[in-house]
Amino acid sequence: MNYLSTRGAGAGERHTFSDILLGGLAKDGGLYLPAEYPRVSADELARWRTLPYADLAFEILSKFSDDIPAEGLRTLTRRTYTAATYCNVRDDESAEQITPLKTLGIEDGAPLSLLELSNGPTLAFKDMAMQLIGNLFEYALAKHGETLNILGATSGDTGSAAEYAMRGKKGIRVFMLSPHKKMSAFQTAQMYSLQDPNIFNLAVEGNFDDCQDIVKAVSNDHAFKAKYKIGTVNSINWARVVAQVVYYFKGYFAATKSNEERVSFTVPSGNFGNVCAGHIARMMGLPIEKLVVATNENDVLDEFFRTGIYRVRKAAETYHTSSPSMDISKASNFERFVFDLLGRDPARVLQLFRDVEEKGGFDLAASGDFVRVKQFGFVSGRSSHADRVEAIRDVFERYDTMIDTHTADGLKVAREHLQPGIPMIVLETAQPIKFGETIREALLREPERPAAFSGIESLPQRFEVLPADVQRVKDFVVAHTGD
Ligand SMILES: *Cc1c(COP(=O)(O)O)cnc(C)c1O
Repeated sequence: MNYLSTRGAGAGERHTFSDILLGGLAKDGGLYLPAEYPRVSADELARWRTLPYADLAFEILSKFSDDIPAEGLRTLTRRTYTAATYCNVRDDESAEQITPLKTLGIEDGAPLSLLELSNGPTLAFKDMAMQLIGNLFEYALAKHGETLNILGATSGDTGSAAEYAMRGKKGIRVFMLSPHKKMSAFQTAQMYSLQDPNIFNLAVEGNFDDCQDIVKAVSNDHAFKAKYKIGTVNSINWARVVAQVVYYFKGYFAATKSNEERVSFTVPSGNFGNVCAGHIARMMGLPIEKLVVATNENDVLDEFFRTGIYRVRKAAETYHTSSPSMDISKASNFERFVFDLLGRDPARVLQLFRDVEEKGGFDLAASGDFVRVKQFGFVSGRSSHADRVEAIRDVFERYDTMIDTHTADGLKVAREHLQPGIPMIVLETAQPIKFGETIREALLREPERPAAFSGIESLPQRFEVLPADVQRVKDFVVAHTGD
């Protein structure tokens, strides 16, 4: 399997899965994609239907990473996808399934269900990929005797998923910046209660944007970055995207009886990482009817899929919403889909994303490319805070099921795209406890709390308060990377 950049640089070069595993952007600023998508045969699909999650993950990942020995990969997937790791199930569903499908009911003739992706250690879907990344990184670093210092900024979900994936991993340290006293008590406790010596929580006296700016400044200091082996685990990481392909297959098998059937997925979206994995599953041949992109008030993606206009937002136009993990100004994985939409023409992708940098966006409506969006199954919708509150209330009353604000966004938009006889699977991206304030507003009661999280707010916390100052963060990294 060879990987290429969406912007075409180094077209003759070979890049394996391992080559791009620890990196971010390609040299030309593009994103990596396989030179061609592996296709799944009817026989394979039939054989995969009954596989346990870890073995399904092995089958799918091995199609994208043929440079990793099969034995090693199987060990990694079996170590990652265990019932003990994805144990935060609610009701009496089996953790063995890793991503159980919860049937809600039939609406407009379509079976409607939730695919639970948030049973992992931090109660958000990012655990699905990040846990695998932790094991893959450790494996790759050990092979070459290398170390990696992961630097990141978080307002909650990404940072905790990364820390829980990297804790105790050999050769890896995590320096995670978060805004001091600005996260919920629950999210703060999730991160700061980790006592592992390779995890460093830096509470920055500023807001999330200050944290992000510091990470950018450090990453732009190429000498520092190289000397201290600074890396990231953000959502453009290819291995993260590919790990997410697995649960589209798993959800499809759970919602159907035969491989003749088609299903649709609705995906609460921000950076287009999760739904990009759905697009890849569809390109591999999984019988997906529609991929419904659901956004909140930050509707960059909904605007594109309705009009063909991609327009990134300025900071002042980016709203802080009750589904904060989807509060984005641009969708960092979107370029991967644009590459496919334009028939994999890197010169045009390069031009369009130059337009994004120089003019703030591009318009495909007039060019004739936009009509092809339908062939890829994409449709979209958006929600407001009131919509999400209403969806949380309705699902609780009608189906006795509590959903979080991001999943509520998905559910609201899914209902606008139901087709009789075609199962609609909404991806559940987080558990309600993470966004308790809106649950209390909608239901006038406390969110459900998985047993493992009782009383975490009173555990001892380990963090360092730092001013919003690039040099102070660098100094901290230097002081804590001595071997
Ligand atoms: C990250 C996140 C999203 C958005 O996922 P993308 O891959 O960025 O589109 C949605 N919901 C939750 C709870 C998240 O943490």
